[in-house]
Amino acid sequence: MPHQGSTQDATLPTRDEHLVIIGNGMAGHRLLESLLDKQARPSRITVIGEEKAPAYNRILLSPLLAGEMERDALTLRDTDWYAEQGVELVLGERVMEIDRQAHRITTSGGRQVTYDRLVLATGSQPAMPPIPGLDLPGVYVFRDLDDAAALVDCSQALAAEGGGRAVVIGGGLLGLEAAEGLRKRGMTVSIVQRDDRLMNRQLDLTAAGLLEGELASRGLEIITDGQLDHLEADDQGHVAGARLADGRLLAADCVVMAIGITPNVALARTARLEVNRAVVVDAHLTSSDPAIHALGECCEFDGQTYGLVEPIWQQVEVLAARLAGESVDGYVEAPTATKLKVSGVSLYAFGPIEATDDHEVLTYHDPEHGDYRRLLLRDGRLEGAVLYGDTASGPWYFKQSLAGRDLSACRQALLFGKADATPLLDTPTSNTPNHTTDSPLQEEAA
Ligand SMILES: Cc1cc2nc3c(=O)[nH]c(=O)nc-3n(C[C@H](O)[C@H](O)[C@H](O)COP(=O)(O)OP(=O)(O)OC[C@H]3O[C@@H](n4cnc5c(N)ncnc54)[C@H](O)[C@@H]3O)c2cc1C
Repeated sequence: MPHQGSTQDATLPTRDEHLVIIGNGMAGHRLLESLLDKQARPSRITVIGEEKAPAYNRILLSPLLAGEMERDALTLRDTDWYAEQGVELVLGERVMEIDRQAHRITTSGGRQVTYDRLVLATGSQPAMPPIPGLDLPGVYVFRDLDDAAALVDCSQALAAEGGGRAVVIGGGLLGLEAAEGLRKRGMTVSIVQRDDRLMNRQLDLTAAGLLEGELASRGLEIITDGQLDHLEADDQGHVAGARLADGRLLAADCVVMAIGITPNVALARTARLEVNRAVVVDAHLTSSDPAIHALGECCEFDGQTYGLVEPIWQQVEVLAARLAGESVDGYVEAPTATKLKVSGVSLYAFGPIEATDDHEVLTYHDPEHGDYRRLLLRDGRLEGAVLYGDTASGPWYFKQSLAGRDLSACRQALLFGKADATPLLDTPTSNTPNHTTDSPLQEEAA
């Protein structure tokens, strides 16, 4: 087990090193950018990515699918930029093997590259449970540019026949963004969610209900408490329907699997690095081999794995400093806020959803304007929030939560957001604004 927070000088890299980064995705690319800003960057850097395109903003695949953005807008840097920076870039080749003894990797193209330091930034892949029919033509995932292009092609091919039917399995962030993208491309879309609500990891029942109402009003069919049993094929062997455990059959010209992600750890496992759900790292993103680091969705720190970029950016800061030979504090796990990238839907959430006995719950619901806010406090400190509709104060709430600030002084105005709450914090003796008494404010005991 790697020890946490190690800063032993013997393991600090020197400048005259060849750093090899495996994976040219969000984490690998951000690490590269960060390193290039540093004076003491490793003297030689090679980036090897399996995808054919240079790094792009994966987050924007959703607006790309929805037809709200052009492909070029996703590119983070073109290939010329890497050459200008003196970075060797290998695209379209998968690293197949790490020889830790020889400090050498081998790619699918037969290329062998030796390294002094290696970074695994291999991300994750869509989770595919052992459900019959998932290998049928017409079954898609939504992870990379090729997936987005395949979904666009599919919707365009079906447009001539009235749009076609899509079934999206998974009602989390990714599933909803895929579903809305396909709907905007003219498909009739059903979402099958195993839980009792959409985005069950981020939203309480009320907010999820508001979201469901909004999406349903756009024509999306939402099936909660729905369990996929198997996929059925037509006479040509193409997917034709999704059979649920309760017997319902949803006709489908295409099915998108969006039930979660599985970290890409095969490479690390074969190299006999310590791997749990993902590659186990210490607070300096060092694996069980001091010459090999991992970050992003392929790493696991303190039992946590990752699926959003915010914590990954924090990891990048730590690892870049470390690789540049700087002494740096270790990565610290911090809460992450979530937003949904569906145009016209505004929601913001962080922290726990379920209240425990020692939580105070503040809620505000204005059905007329479609605004909903629910705050979870413990000892006057904000631990979680769900905002739907007007989310302007979301980042401010999040900041207060991260700071662990005692908000007791502004408790009565807290639900009205930053503008009403901050004056009470700044002048603790002032009174609560009058309008709070006329508001649709509710308080619940947890
Ligand atoms: C459609 C979509 C929308 C998203 N929206 C959001 C959002 O709104 N907010 C948010 O915070 N997060 C969002 N995410 C998640 C976010 O994109 C990921 O958390 C982030 O990309 C993880 O970065 P990563 O570098 O670890 O993995 P990736 O970005 O997946 O990069 C890993 C790269 O490594 C390559 N690779 C893997 N194995 C090898 C190998 N053996 N050899 C060579 N290369 C290899 C892969 O091909 C890939 O290019 C979204 C993800 C998707 C798919």
